[in-house]
Amino acid sequence: MRLPEPVEDVVVNLLRLANTKLPTDIGWALEAAAGWETGEIAGIQLGAIMENAKKAEHLGLPMCQDTGIPVFYVRGRFDSSIAKDIAKGVERATESIPLRPNAVDPLTRVNSGNNLGPGMPIIHYMPTDDEFTEISVLPKGAGSENMTRLAMLNPSDGIEGVKRFVVGAVLDAGGRPCPPTIVGVGIGGTSDRCVEMAKEALLAPIDSENPDPDLARLEEELFMDLNSSGLGPMGLGGSTTSFAVKIRKAYCHTASLPVAVNIGCWATRRATARITESGVEYAQGAVL
Ligand code: SF4
Repeated sequence: MRLPEPVEDVVVNLLRLANTKLPTDIGWALEAAAGWETGEIAGIQLGAIMENAKKAEHLGLPMCQDTGIPVFYVRGRFDSSIAKDIAKGVERATESIPLRPNAVDPLTRVNSGNNLGPGMPIIHYMPTDDEFTEISVLPKGAGSENMTRLAMLNPSDGIEGVKRFVVGAVLDAGGRPCPPTIVGVGIGGTSDRCVEMAKEALLAPIDSENPDPDLARLEEELFMDLNSSGLGPMGLGGSTTSFAVKIRKAYCHTASLPVAVNIGCWATRRATARITESGVEYAQGAVL
């Protein structure tokens, strides 16, 4: 497939869109929350977040100083050169937007200065026979990423065990992932796949429906539990702790019940480009 634009340019556009414009669904959720929160502190926090997001979009600047680690998902048709092109786009975006250089050697803590390095950016590949190449980016800040949790539950813990673990992980995180959050949950698979699914779930817009009715019900129950906890915006009290819970599942070993939580902060930044021979379409979310 001949691409109408260099992938490098598309990646710069994606990182600019994700970092400077809050996805519409999160904007609506913030406005709705500001309408129903009655507490003064919760109202002030939501007002500050909305003001900040508006200014970022207006000025074309990142909405948070932690512009995150670039995590990419590539779907459809592509060849192996796409990794190099994505890396070039990350380097250019770091310079031009600008993005904070966040990528360091985990042991020496030496910063590469361009958000690149061994294993960086992180790219997940999902080849299909579709006549498009789809690239999604989910810049992930440390405040929320550091709250990631994995449990290898006992199968006998069942759904109640899953719920206890998810609610416990979000409440233990408190204000550190900058609530209101979106809570990504992976259930099943192996330990590594489970954590991947929890993060993939954050790409889905808040209003996208889970096609699995059992998971949709569980999402709703967890959403109610989290928002009746009183944690609230920025962990300072209120009834808006999370905008949504998004769950993905995979079959697992008969003796395992892996559960993972990956939290997206209020600034859950996401952007997707679908590239076909006739052009590039941008959106701010994708259901993988
Ligand atoms: S958790 Fe999100 S909003 Fe909070 S500092 Fe990190 S990136 Fe920014």
